[in-house]
Parts: sequence; structure tokens; C-alpha cells
Amino acid sequence: MSVSASDVRLDDRIAIVGAGQAGARAAEALRSAGHIGEINLIGEEPHPPYERPQLSKEILLDRSAALASIKDREGWSGLGVSLHTGASVAECEFANRRLLLANGASVAFDRLVIATGVVARSAPALENSAIPVRTLRTIEDALFLREAFTPGARIVLIGGGVIGLETAAAAVKSGCSATVVEAAATLLSRALPAEVAAFLQRQHEAEGVAFRFGVVGERVEDGALVLSDGSRLPADCIVVGVGSEPRVALGAQIGLDCAEGFRVDAYGRTDAPGVFAIGDVAAQWSEQRGRWGRVETWANAQNQAIAVARCMAGQDAPYRDAPWFWTDQYDVNVQVAGDLAGADLVLRGDIASGRFAVLGVQDGVLSGAVTVNNRKDMAVLRKLATRRVNRADLENPSFDLRKALV
Ligand code: NAP
Repeated sequence: MSVSASDVRLDDRIAIVGAGQAGARAAEALRSAGHIGEINLIGEEPHPPYERPQLSKEILLDRSAALASIKDREGWSGLGVSLHTGASVAECEFANRRLLLANGASVAFDRLVIATGVVARSAPALENSAIPVRTLRTIEDALFLREAFTPGARIVLIGGGVIGLETAAAAVKSGCSATVVEAAATLLSRALPAEVAAFLQRQHEAEGVAFRFGVVGERVEDGALVLSDGSRLPADCIVVGVGSEPRVALGAQIGLDCAEGFRVDAYGRTDAPGVFAIGDVAAQWSEQRGRWGRVETWANAQNQAIAVARCMAGQDAPYRDAPWFWTDQYDVNVQVAGDLAGADLVLRGDIASGRFAVLGVQDGVLSGAVTVNNRKDMAVLRKLATRRVNRADLENPSFDLRKALV
């Protein structure tokens, strides 16, 4: 057992800073695991914690879609969690184990959980221009964009990542035109194999989305975005989806190294005693890549937070889940599990059919998988990850993957 009993007191005071998916799930899991001490959950947004995946999907498309709270205010108070919304931490007096909030309140703690997540990277050169320029991270951003996506509006998406592509799909479905400006030569080159990225690009082109590769947006002038090759894209709204930056100010005050989020072990422990980090802001060690990295997925925010909370309550529940995320664009569902970096890629199924998978095999072991419109295979592939597999079986789409589990 790697959780020392001396680290654990079920009646101590825990402050969780950041009330997104990770912070909220940690608070819930601490209670389920038997923590009886005070829990303060502190978030800057004015709302109780809510689900973000719908922001770039249903909320953009459906005027009747409501914000999905993880729990409402009554739910949090019923759980004995003090929820502070619209509250930011101005200072951490770490030696005194006290957080000073910008609203003048103070919160004492014995153990601290940093769940501050990320902020969307902006495009400073485009700010304060005549065309609205917006990132997409909060419900307010999503509602703003939904209003902007009126039929006929010209939407430019900067960045061909998950935000850019899901938002482009919502824009054209809303009757807008959409152009994606991607600095690299292809889409999602770090997250997806080339075959899957090319397939997604074709789906978007069939829906009318235009792409500009190898250029960046330089400035806004006379109602248009001027690109680095001098060309102009007339636009009514510009959406910036060029990645994110970890929010590290709190950990920096404590003296944590915050070059790329906060390094944690499988128990969520940082280098500072009694300080944990979870979700998008936590950097975890990847054996396969041989380096530290933040895992920016909904599943990690939820499941790592739950595992860390259980460890904080004295259970031996180290977090070792393989990464997993999904994206929905039109009627295409893409799921990515594990890690395909450095692996041999095996195609399973026919790309033209619109239902296929690309699997990563390294030294005879399944390291990762991407499925396109194939939830059934993914359900099995997630269980197969890191097991020895027979390549010929994987390549044969009529081979029942469940047989590889036995
Ligand atoms: P992302 O997935 O990292 O994609 C950003 C893309 O923009 C990359 O392809 C990047 O190219 C490109 N880029 C960077 N700078 C650029 C520039 N100046 N001009 C044009 N292109 C540029 O980030 P994101 O789409 O902004 O999403 C942010 C986070 O939101 C994700 O990490 C994820 O956690 C979350 N999210 C997830 C989902 C989902 O899982 N379905 C959906 C929405 C959001 P390079 O790769 O070459 O840098």
C-alpha cells in the first residue's frame, strides 16, 4: 500500500480549488469513500460544476439544450460540500494552510487539491477587432456562439483540433459557412492517425466546410481575417481553438514546479506535502512516451479525480487508466483509447464504409486504438489495451475481438 496511514485523516479539512469535472468528482468521491471532514469546493464560474462536452455539440445546435449540472446547489449542500461559486483564490498562505479568496473570505485546509484546469489559448493579435473573436471553454462562450451561428453567417475557425472541428460541424448544421484555418499541414496530427484525420476532413468537405492549411490568422482588417499568406477571409465571427494553457498560479505560489502543469504520482500527490493535483492541470508519467504530460480529456478529469479522492481517503486506488476520448462531428463518432505513438498501425475494416478502426501494435501488444463509428469494437478494445494480440486477427473485421480477451 503506497498511501501512508499517517497521510490520511477522514476528518481533516480539504479544499478543492477548481470546480470543473475533476474538482466536482473528487468532492463526490471523497464523501463516498468516507471522508467526514469539511470539504470546500471553490470555482470561479458563477454556476455549480457542469458538463463541458456538450458545449461544442448539443448546446451549439439546440436552443432547448440546457446546461447539464453535475449536481445542483441543493445536491452539494446535501453532500455536505461547501460550494463557492464566482470565487477566485487571491492568495494561498501555505504555511498557515489558508486560502484567501478575492471576495474577502478565507478557507482553511489541511489538504489541498488543485483542480484549476486550463484556460483556452487566445489569439492576442486578433483581439479588440471589429469582428467578434471567441474561444470556447465556458457555457457563456457556447451561448455567445450559438447566437452568432445564424443562417448565412460566415464563421472562421482558427485551429483544426477538436474544438475547431466540432464547432465547424455545428456552424454548417446551423446554416453558416465555415472555414477552418490550420497552421499544420493536416488536421489533428498529434491525436489521430493520418487515415482517420483524412476521413474526417472529407466528411467536413462534403458538408461544405473549407480548409486552409499551413497558414495562420494575422490580423483583422475591413471585415476579414488576413492570413499569413496575404489572403483574406471575410468573417462575421472568428472562433479560436488553438489549444490551452494550464492554470498554474496557485501551485506557483506554493512553490511547485509548474513548467507544464503539476507533476503527480498515481495517487495524485505533488511534490508539496498534502497537496494533490487532478484533471487537466496534472501532469502524469507516460511509460509509453517516456515523458510527463497532461491528459486533457473528460474521462481523465473524472476518473483520475475519483481515484485520487479514494487514495486521499485511505484506499489503495492508484490511477493507471489509459487515455480515452471521443468526438462527435455530424453523425461521425470517433473514439481514441490508449496511445498510438511509435506503434505499428493496423487498419481494421474498410475506410470507404465509414466504419473502421486503426489499431496500434507495439512489440505484439495493443497500445492504442481509434474507432470510427464503431462503438462496439471500442468497448472491447479498451479492455484489450496492453494485452498481447494477434495482428492477423485484428486485421480481420469479421474476427470477434471478444475472443482475444480470453
Ligand atoms: P487542440 O486539440 O490542441 O487543437 C488545436 C489545433 O490548432 C492543433 O491542430 C494546432 O496545431 C492548431 N493550431 C495551433 N496554433 C494555431 C494557429 N495559430 N493557427 C491555426 N492553427 C493553430 O486544442 P483545441 O481544439 O483548442 O481543444 C482544447 C481542449 O479542449 C482539448 O485539449 C480538449 O481537452 C478539449 N476538448 C475536447 C473535446 C473532445 O474530447 N471531444 C472537444 C472539445 C474540446 P498543432 O497540433 O500543430 O499545434
